[in-house]
Amino acid sequence: MTSYADFYRQSINEPDAFWTEQAKLIDWQQPFTRVCNYDKPPFAHWFEGGTTNLCHNAVDRHLKDRADQAALIYVSTETGVEKTYSFTELHAEVQRMAASLQALGVTKGDRVLIYMPMIAEAAFAMLACARIGAIHCVVFGGFASGSLASRIEDATPKVIVSADAGSRGGKIVPYKPLLDEAIRLSSHKPEAVLLADRGLSPMQLVAGRDQLWSDLRAKHVNDKVPCEWMKSTDISYTIYTSGTTGKPKGVQRDTGGYAVALAASMKHIFDGRAGETYFSTSDIGWVVGHSYIIYGPLIAGMATLMYEGLPTRGLDKEPDGGIWWRLVEKYKVTAMFSAPTAVRVLKKQDPALLKKYDLSSLRALFLAGEPLDEPTARWISEGLQVPIIDNYWQTESGWPILTIANPVEKKASKFGSPGIPMYGYNVKLLHESTGEELTQPNEKGVVVLEGPTPPGFMQTVWKDDARFVNTYWKTVPGKMVYSTFDWGIRDKDGYYFILGRTDDVINVAGHRLGTREIEESISGHAGVAEVAVVGVADTLKGQVAMAFVVPKDASVLANSAEALKLEGEVMKRVDQDLGALARPSRVRFVSMLPKTRSGKLLRRAIQAVCEGRDAGDLTTMDDPSALQQIRDRVEAG
Ligand code: AMP
Repeated sequence: MTSYADFYRQSINEPDAFWTEQAKLIDWQQPFTRVCNYDKPPFAHWFEGGTTNLCHNAVDRHLKDRADQAALIYVSTETGVEKTYSFTELHAEVQRMAASLQALGVTKGDRVLIYMPMIAEAAFAMLACARIGAIHCVVFGGFASGSLASRIEDATPKVIVSADAGSRGGKIVPYKPLLDEAIRLSSHKPEAVLLADRGLSPMQLVAGRDQLWSDLRAKHVNDKVPCEWMKSTDISYTIYTSGTTGKPKGVQRDTGGYAVALAASMKHIFDGRAGETYFSTSDIGWVVGHSYIIYGPLIAGMATLMYEGLPTRGLDKEPDGGIWWRLVEKYKVTAMFSAPTAVRVLKKQDPALLKKYDLSSLRALFLAGEPLDEPTARWISEGLQVPIIDNYWQTESGWPILTIANPVEKKASKFGSPGIPMYGYNVKLLHESTGEELTQPNEKGVVVLEGPTPPGFMQTVWKDDARFVNTYWKTVPGKMVYSTFDWGIRDKDGYYFILGRTDDVINVAGHRLGTREIEESISGHAGVAEVAVVGVADTLKGQVAMAFVVPKDASVLANSAEALKLEGEVMKRVDQDLGALARPSRVRFVSMLPKTRSGKLLRRAIQAVCEGRDAGDLTTMDDPSALQQIRDRVEAG
């Protein structure tokens, strides 16, 4: 058996040989002629000359050996629907969707924006796009009109696929009005909107634009749509993520590199075996949903369990803190993927629920998206008695950067550490200001990657190569390295520990949000003169957003009824613009914000005060009383 150290070394020192071997895990229509073209750093082009198709690899190629085996298991504890699609059935549904999209004018390279709840049709739509070479752009269903509008504007989709409504904890969230409003706000208008009607919320159809999936599906029920053979470097999808500016970035991914990266990760990291069941509790709106609800497990020939609902509610819509474990038992899940926040929610449930079901099929639980705290890791580890594998990555990377590759070589995990660099990732720690590499154990630096980044990594920012280079590759003086914008340390055994973001991105319940986007939404309120939003530690969600507002009318500061009213309005505005996830937990009013003498907002100092920490070096601060006001407001509760 190869040691992981050798495996990793080969991936870095002989990448062509290493990735040629991994590329055998997928089907190619035309073999590639060049493994990696890195002639123009930092743009890495993987498997040039090769042609393939993600949908073929996820669905069609399994028809030969496992046509009748489960491919998609759909469970909604919101609507009580539980349905299994075999590979044959999934193949048919995807072709119906592909034919419907084609009928609406979609061809190779067109964008299709998918704004959907967790329903099987969302999976059909993603796979159908991949099948016909359309670029999908999935927008998280929890986002509201403002966020959706900016994404429509940037992606310029020909068609939008959506649904009447989502549902959360039994509360119906109508999507159609949010979508209509977003289309109104955007200067780009889609030619057509394809709508799945779940019968949850009445829809007003726009004549000539809106089409019902049930109608088109019936029309195309027997259609056969072949896979479009895509160049390995052709774009498969874009997914928007938050950064330091208010404008979200379209992370753009290729086709062949992504397919290889996912197939390799299913084998070497997730130990996902064909014929078994994978259960990721994420949402298709996030990168985990793309990689490990849809493409990864299916490429590996596994059944993927797609779940809509809370972790604490059963199929009968009654409270059930054991629902996920019930599903693990029922579908013999072997690999499960979730987020620390979800485990913290489950930790509040009766611990006996973990013993109630036969969980012997489960080989590991993978957790990602936010730091995994030790009490949570210990609790779930003791409860499940399987390895708990933390994995650190980003929307940009598409698959884990740091974790433990147990199928290559079993290694102990360390609490608090997501693990060691994965094959293909040349991870370094650099000094924040000098850019020097930190080689001693336990020195704190910025986690960076040296190019070329591995297959599956983002190709560029959609339509904006300059933004890709400037945002990610030019942050360290004199060096072209990819910045993760995370602080980290490495211990003497080579295990990394992630210490939080270097930028203004916050992480709420494993979801990444830009504080600037929230600030922009709040500043849009007529009563707001200035605002600062920071992420504050929260025992359940990891972080929550907290807003400090300078009101235009100073009387708000002395009038608690007015302050409460304005706080409510500000929260509502964020809800409507961005969605409830971004809503600040509190809006506090101050007469000024702490800034440097040059006018830069001291967000880190505000955050430190909110978390009861030392605010650090304040020599550049303009007026110390501003920070004192923040302290007083926080202490006042
Ligand atoms: P996203 O792009 O939404 O997946 O967010 C990526 C960010 O989430 C990373 O840059 C980290 O700040 C954080 N993150 C993701 N996974 C982990 C993890 N396992 N441990 C610590 N932080 C994580």
